[in-house]
Amino acid sequence: MRKTVEQIAGDTQGISFAFPVYVFEGKGGGPTAYLQAALHGGELPGVVAIDALMPMLRKAELQGRIRGKITIVPSANPIGRAQYAAGDLMGRFHFGTQTNFNRDFPLLSSPDDNPEYLLDQSTVDQRLKARLVALSMGHDIVLDLHCDDESLAYLYVPTVLWPFMQDCAAAMNMDAVILWDGDCGAAFDQASIDPYLGAPTERARFDRRVVSTVEYRGLADVDAALAQHDAEGLYRLLVMRGVIEDAAVAPSKPFRGLTSPIENVEMVRAPCAGALLYHVKPGDRVEEGQKLVTIVHSPGEVDGRLDVLAPQAGLILTRRNRRAAYSGDDLLKLVGSRPSATHRPGALED
Ligand SMILES: [Zn+2]
Repeated sequence: MRKTVEQIAGDTQGISFAFPVYVFEGKGGGPTAYLQAALHGGELPGVVAIDALMPMLRKAELQGRIRGKITIVPSANPIGRAQYAAGDLMGRFHFGTQTNFNRDFPLLSSPDDNPEYLLDQSTVDQRLKARLVALSMGHDIVLDLHCDDESLAYLYVPTVLWPFMQDCAAAMNMDAVILWDGDCGAAFDQASIDPYLGAPTERARFDRRVVSTVEYRGLADVDAALAQHDAEGLYRLLVMRGVIEDAAVAPSKPFRGLTSPIENVEMVRAPCAGALLYHVKPGDRVEEGQKLVTIVHSPGEVDGRLDVLAPQAGLILTRRNRRAAYSGDDLLKLVGSRPSATHRPGALED
């Protein structure tokens, strides 16, 4: 294994950011893989899963069982990770540009383009994004490990890679898969798949390519057992796709989770501000019209509560971890069986 430290120059003198990258070269002949975590600075389930995965990779390397190159970035965003305001980590948007760290990645027209031409003429967050694309481009498997607020485990998968990636969802023990295509605001996964969409079939190889944003449950789902479970899932995926040799790993059973186009995800929003009394949690199945959340908007008043109902039947995928909402705030994600009446093109959230 080789460790390097990437340096990203800040936008003012005396400031720079650094993050380590670990590369297992492999002996050749297998697909290659790139894993990164915490692009928003604080999604720790993926970080600790990678930490639990590393001993397995070191052992596989010692025993000569790594075939394809594996590149690991355990904590991909030192800028966002440092953005504390009044005690709260605020790593989703770059303070300077107000841009989501997982939007506006450079979109290459071909996997052979070099995104580093952007390095000299951009802000620090754009330099970080260009560097991450440069590090990941060319790998057959690209996994971007995030988490939601409170959530099931689910994948965002480009439609062009489905159903080929069913084995990955099964290997990682995912509860659900959300399929998307088109423009999602140039998130990292879009930057990873876009250059191949126009490539010749023998180069694109959608049957063996993996690109996914992984949502490892909720922000607080950080413990040793889950980290080990998720590390084993990642390792199983790498074995099943031929990156690592390990005869001791049994093939996964077929994927039995929910698969849905992104249009069918209901982003249920708060019609008014208030305190949230949830009646459902991730994993619950609900009927159309069922009470999801009661918002206490005028405490003490006879009519001071408002019930938010399910717009259609489906599975509760996520909910907020805070219990206060402003008007228009996202309350939960519900996966239905028909397109949401409020669906808008692009990513589900800002
Ligand atoms: Zn994230």
